[in-house]
Amino acid sequence: MPPPIHTSEQTITEASDCFTSSPLSMEKDPVKPVMEDSEDKRQPRKGSKLALYTFVDAFGWEIYQQYGFLNDLLPHARRLKTTFGFSSAADPSILTGRYPDQHGHWSSFYYSPETSPFKGFKYLAKLPSSIFDRWRVRHWLSKIMAKVYRYTGYFELYSVPFSKLPYFDYLEKQDYFVPGGILNTDTIFDWCVSHDIAYYCSNWRHSEEAIIEENKQQIRESNIKMNYLYLPKLDGVMHTYGTQHKKVAEKIHWLEEQVRDVYELACQHYDQVSLYVISDHGMANVSGSVDVIKQIESLGLTFGKDYVAMYDSTMARFWFKNTRAQLLIHQALEGINEGTIVSEAELRQMRVPHQDKKFGELFFLMNPGILINPSYMGLKVIPGMHGFHPDDKDSYACILSNQEIGEDINSIADIRKTMEHELNHASARTQY
Ligand SMILES: [Zn+2]
Repeated sequence: MPPPIHTSEQTITEASDCFTSSPLSMEKDPVKPVMEDSEDKRQPRKGSKLALYTFVDAFGWEIYQQYGFLNDLLPHARRLKTTFGFSSAADPSILTGRYPDQHGHWSSFYYSPETSPFKGFKYLAKLPSSIFDRWRVRHWLSKIMAKVYRYTGYFELYSVPFSKLPYFDYLEKQDYFVPGGILNTDTIFDWCVSHDIAYYCSNWRHSEEAIIEENKQQIRESNIKMNYLYLPKLDGVMHTYGTQHKKVAEKIHWLEEQVRDVYELACQHYDQVSLYVISDHGMANVSGSVDVIKQIESLGLTFGKDYVAMYDSTMARFWFKNTRAQLLIHQALEGINEGTIVSEAELRQMRVPHQDKKFGELFFLMNPGILINPSYMGLKVIPGMHGFHPDDKDSYACILSNQEIGEDINSIADIRKTMEHELNHASARTQY
């Protein structure tokens, strides 16, 4: 008589808002009683195979080269090219296995005054900026706004001036970690649902400690075939301290302990565990900054009438209302030695969605390590940043595994191939 297991229905009921599960695949599982010692201990049934994907935000190839990561467990490692832009482009590329010009996700803010949800902010703009420039106040306002508009994605106003917000719309309104959250394509989670494969995806709103516990709980139940363990905090540590601070080494060491712990637990509950550690991009140490906004605003042009600009921390994007503004801004940018205008050909080659100029008509990218400061993303220079050119050595992401990694896995958009490979294999096993 095999030991009782939790039914898939129970798992679904207990699910958080970032979780889904397929009931069918569980029923196909071979039932394997667990024998331990000679005692008649009733253990939960062991699962056949788990694909354990651990996402560590900003754990780039260079960081891995310096610090390593569970080298005894993860002998296979590969450098992965990231996508141009920020996490809002990279994370969807991991989950969809496609590039931004396919899945449609790129920067958070895009020019669209007609559809802007920020129209009312022009009134708030009249209030003293000393109140609303505080990060806490903006964070609090972002939370209220997300609630009012029922945004489920990651929503943050950052430091975009309230007077400029009405020119923009916000891309990431839906949570793309749940099925149906991506604009143009599916994700690995949609794929799991359509293939009746039970999985668990961490709830990114929770703390890392809570996320680890929640993943462990799912693993103990041995029902899922894949889990996506989401660990985002290393990114913040490196933004705050740069890549060489002892806090980075401590954080990586802590992460190693946690991942080892989850892996060992998984080995107790599954016959076979494929462990992967993946990342979205790396991190560069900041060596300087340029006040691009000041240079553009000194041209005598009017924001909104002559041009519109979005100043991300490592790039500036422009939309033009007349050719004079286009010419003057182009000239001004060419005079800034710490950055370059990104050509149309390169935008195409980097697979930025660019046909409709939604994300900008002109892109100016800073050299690695140089920030635009102040920017609409922040008002001070911080020691670490990503979002520079994908060819810069510090931009590269990585994939580590206890499984061999194919020669065809070279970009973060290739990670999904490994997931489907793992899960196809898992599904095939359940046929017996
Ligand atoms: Zn970051």
